[in-house]
Amino acid sequence: MKDNPVQTAAPEPSFRDSVDLMFNRAVRFMTLPPGLEQKIRVCNATYTVRFGVRLRGAIHTFTGYRSVHSEHMEPVKGGIRYAPFVDQEEVEALAALMTYKCALVEVPFGGSKGGLCLDPREWDEEELERITRRFTYELVKRDLIHPAQNVPAPDMGTSEREMAWIADQYRRMNTTDINASACVTGKPLNAGGIHGRVEATGRGLQYALREFFRHPEDVARAGLSGGLEGKRVVVQGLGNVGFHAARFLSEEDGARIVGIVERDGVLWNDDGLRVEVAREWLLRNGGLRDCPGGHFSEDGAAALEAECDILLPAALEGVIHRDNAARIRAPLIVEGANGPVTAAADAILREKGTVVIPDLYANAGGVTVSYFEWVKNLSQIRFGRLQRRAEEARHALLVSELERLSADQGLGWTLSPSFKDRYLRGDDEIELVRSGLDDTMRAAYGAMRALWHERPELGDLRTAAYVVAIGRVAASYRAKGL
Ligand code: GLU
Repeated sequence: MKDNPVQTAAPEPSFRDSVDLMFNRAVRFMTLPPGLEQKIRVCNATYTVRFGVRLRGAIHTFTGYRSVHSEHMEPVKGGIRYAPFVDQEEVEALAALMTYKCALVEVPFGGSKGGLCLDPREWDEEELERITRRFTYELVKRDLIHPAQNVPAPDMGTSEREMAWIADQYRRMNTTDINASACVTGKPLNAGGIHGRVEATGRGLQYALREFFRHPEDVARAGLSGGLEGKRVVVQGLGNVGFHAARFLSEEDGARIVGIVERDGVLWNDDGLRVEVAREWLLRNGGLRDCPGGHFSEDGAAALEAECDILLPAALEGVIHRDNAARIRAPLIVEGANGPVTAAADAILREKGTVVIPDLYANAGGVTVSYFEWVKNLSQIRFGRLQRRAEEARHALLVSELERLSADQGLGWTLSPSFKDRYLRGDDEIELVRSGLDDTMRAAYGAMRALWHERPELGDLRTAAYVVAIGRVAASYRAKGL
């Protein structure tokens, strides 16, 4: 397979081209009104800004982007990435993915993405705050951050901290906007955030895999059987997405995290690694070398090709490409990152029968919980605040009535303390967020797999996901008379 001319002749498409190729593959199976295909595919606008910030005694010029792919629904949504390699192509590819992702999981947003070309490790907190506030100022000035028009969120290299600065900067510039906190999601709890947003993408990956494993026919297509229990997982990237997904899968579903690939190499243990330990080590040392609990090797690339049941790329785009795709032995790939499999690799994997749970579905947990946060901000009230105690009172009524009946009739029933404990507790925000996320992931999987099974010519879950998503975007354009 390594010398397959298909792999060596055609150049690897760029990330932007990869997304378009996947889009094109899907529209081949659809009938769209003339011209609509092109309208949906193209990126509506990309704003590039160069701004200076005085730091360390000199003016430093930074380049930032905010790309709006589709405004068929507003606000448009998508994270802001801080990385030294950010460029227009990448931001546009990511914005396009956001459009399809939101459509697939029925989150009522268009697609957008932003990026700032810098290495966050090179700047201290105070400097990053000044840079972030200045970048925010430039975007707010052009309504590229706005609760009704464009709502950023964290992405690679950004977190709650940056979102809090963005929200505060927007508020300073819009002092009378009652919806100001809805201008960005992924904020800390004490600044208008929502419970469960930090781990949402990882949680969504867990729910995606659980849903996949609820369908034995789908599991069989990957040549696997049974549930998640005992499945050997290799995770690439122990950032916010990979860490939470790996932790939940190992601690709650009994999966075995056998390999963790990071920048400096791979940590391996056939019996399973302790994800928390690896994460702490990574945060402290910047790599996994010498981390206890596993065997370290510098050859991270080989670990991607190692034998395992599930490969979870959760870092950068393009890590599975035309040159290593044929050697990937995992029968199931779940895309935690955006675009980890190139279009060329995708074709090779499809040919091989590898099942890929695609990014636009698998990592949609983040934007789904962002949607809940945005709704919370607009309604100015925490989820569950009105209902929780009423629900508890109603449940208590039922329990006491059952106990009274049992005593009156001499039935001798006793409700188990664990049942009572769980039944009597009303749902608070985190439980509602999880329920909403689980429901979203199940519904989207259902839509995607129905097509996958009904139309075998589509060939894979990704194409099915694109067909569902593009169909919804097209329907929304049609409804507008466009
Ligand atoms: N950056 C995340 C993504 O790629 C989250 C976007 C959001 O919450 O708006 O999906």
